[in-house]
Amino acid sequence: MGKPTGFMEISRQDRRYKLVADRLQHYQEFVVPLTEEEVSRQGARCMDCGIPYCHQGCPVNNIIPDWNDLVYQGNWREAIEVLHSTNNFPEFTGRICPAPCEAACTLNLTDEPVTIKTIECSIIDKAWEMGWVKPLIPQHRTGKKVAVVGSGPAGLACAQQLARVGHSVVVYEKADRIGGLLRYGIPDFKMEKHLIDRRIAQMQAEGVVFRPNSHIGRDVPVQKLLDNYDAVILAGGAEKPRDLNVPGRELNGVHFAMEFLPQQNRRVAGDTLSDDTSIWATGKHVIVIGGGDTGSDCIGTSARHGAASITQLEILPKPPEKEKKEVTWPNWPNKLRTSSSHEEGCERF
Ligand SMILES: Cc1cc2nc3c(=O)[nH]c(=O)nc-3n(C[C@H](O)[C@H](O)[C@H](O)COP(=O)(O)OP(=O)(O)OC[C@H]3O[C@@H](n4cnc5c(N)ncnc54)[C@H](O)[C@@H]3O)c2cc1C
Ligand code: SF4
Repeated sequence: MGKPTGFMEISRQDRRYKLVADRLQHYQEFVVPLTEEEVSRQGARCMDCGIPYCHQGCPVNNIIPDWNDLVYQGNWREAIEVLHSTNNFPEFTGRICPAPCEAACTLNLTDEPVTIKTIECSIIDKAWEMGWVKPLIPQHRTGKKVAVVGSGPAGLACAQQLARVGHSVVVYEKADRIGGLLRYGIPDFKMEKHLIDRRIAQMQAEGVVFRPNSHIGRDVPVQKLLDNYDAVILAGGAEKPRDLNVPGRELNGVHFAMEFLPQQNRRVAGDTLSDDTSIWATGKHVIVIGGGDTGSDCIGTSARHGAASITQLEILPKPPEKEKKEVTWPNWPNKLRTSSSHEEGCERF
């Protein structure tokens, strides 16, 4: 524990967003990072709890107290070693993870959790900037061949781990670009796609081969994988949208989120879409059905298109503004969450 009294002396400080009027003009990220000194001070707030609930809250078991302390000590180089030991892509999670670690942090009992996600993002952004993130080429080859089907975060993490222990890995992806929902679900304004390209280059240097435009079971027979590989990993994600079987579902202008969002990511990537299939919210009164993150992404995208109005509908009763800590902590609480897209202008019911 770097500074035993840090949590009493230093207030929580987090990244802020650029102004709405500014960020609606483009599809780039709009988070303003903290300075290195500010992040270091935030690291000093960590109490290195005997039972680090943050660690338990993290789905990839990030060793959070250790890198909080390392950042406080100014030892960023070791911080990225520790962070990478549990997390292949902290630049993704540091931007788009909902941060259950912060909900679980002991300091969340008083609504001032350690800014874990911001610290994580700062560590990896600095590591890339300093050139510390290098391909890890395996010392020995096992001679084993593995096919990974699907290039979302699950497939990419599998492929990287397997390549680093010396297996020959080929990633098959049916889409034209690698990245799964990172590429074609999550909007650029939440995570810019050059971050994926940078990792792909690192993985290629580590020996991973990427085969986009390869639909297993359609372009490439399953039997071919079974014949040519020692193991096959299925990381195809969950693509089936939940339909709403109500009168009017068949009308024009009713779309699944995952018909709408990927189009905008393609436009940002420079693709030209045909007018017949393009979905635009420009000048329209948009209703988003579903109150979760995907709904939020539709709101942010519609706002950038220049929608006339945006309304979000949620079937569940409105959750409380503030959770009852004694009942929910250290678990993820059900409470009303206001995303950056909500702030950009929408009515919620
Ligand atoms: C709009 C949206 C926003 C989201 N925002 C967030 C967020 O902010 N934070 C967060 O933590 N999570 C978010 N998520 C969830 C997150 O994106 C997923 O949990 C994650 O991408 C799942 O990773 P995956 O690798 O399992 O699958 P996917 O990312 O879905 O990747 C699976 C890949 O497999 C490919 N594939 C499928 N079948 C085949 C086949 N037969 N042959 C070849 N390739 C195949 C698909 O084309 C796809 O590229 C969001 C999801 C959506 C839809
Ligand atoms: S729960 Fe919070 S204060 Fe405790 S070790 Fe984790 S980050 Fe630090």
